[in-house]
Amino acid sequence: MQTGAPVSGELVLLGGGHAQVAALKSFAMRPLPGLRLTLVCRDINTPYSGMLPAFVEGVWSERDIHIDLQKLAAMANARFIHAEATGIDTDDKRILFADRPPVKFDMLSVNIGGRPNLAAIDGAAQHAVPVKPISRFQHRLDELVSKGYPRRIAIIGGGAAGCELALAFARRWFREAGARPDIFIFARSARLVPEMPPRAARLLHDALRDVGCTVQCGA
Ligand SMILES: Cc1cc2nc3c(=O)[nH]c(=O)nc-3n(C[C@H](O)[C@H](O)[C@H](O)COP(=O)(O)OP(=O)(O)OC[C@H]3O[C@@H](n4cnc5c(N)ncnc54)[C@H](O)[C@@H]3O)c2cc1C
Repeated sequence: MQTGAPVSGELVLLGGGHAQVAALKSFAMRPLPGLRLTLVCRDINTPYSGMLPAFVEGVWSERDIHIDLQKLAAMANARFIHAEATGIDTDDKRILFADRPPVKFDMLSVNIGGRPNLAAIDGAAQHAVPVKPISRFQHRLDELVSKGYPRRIAIIGGGAAGCELALAFARRWFREAGARPDIFIFARSARLVPEMPPRAARLLHDALRDVGCTVQCGA
């Protein structure tokens, strides 16, 4: 609980990923008097997606890219509940669980990540490896690499994450397997990283071309 003042409200943060980690860090640095803080997450150790490309590249270890939510919650004076939410009762302002009593909230912040809609692309469910959830991606990647480094990799999505992962695959394959894979990036947008300035897209394009990556935009 945020110390020094009577409790005037309960903020529950649901999910312990990228978004909530940043919020918890802010509360740790600048506590709000009277606010009772609770973090609810199904993981105790959360992978930090910003570090995933460098993990794929082999720069960071699995341990490096994980944040201990119990410790972070303690730093922010937050209660930590390790559980998977199954529903939200908005009338009674409660989070519901299959195996524990509900958790009440005055304010609720839900950041439980997104998952690619594999059904939207024919064959994706059988052949693609979704990056989210990250824990599953890590295992699928390990499995693939243990059978031999795939020679052709297609990445669907030309945002920052897809481009960073392409560069990471190229570097890691070159270092560990002696040759870069053939990488293809398919982006629906007219150019890479459409949310960033055109210059960023050009620089990324050049970096990807330098490692032999083929980019197809408007796909
Ligand atoms: C390779 C890659 C690199 C990226 N790099 C960056 C970057 O550098 N900067 C940036 O801003 N964004 C980056 N992103 C985007 C970023 O990951 C997402 O925008 C962000 O993760 C969304 O935040 P989130 O906290 O909602 O989800 P996530 O980080 O995916 O976390 C979801 C959390 O919710 C928990 N959870 C899920 N369901 C439940 C449930 N039912 N009950 C309890 N807990 C649950 C999960 O265990 C997890 O802890 C990157 C994405 C990728 C794929």
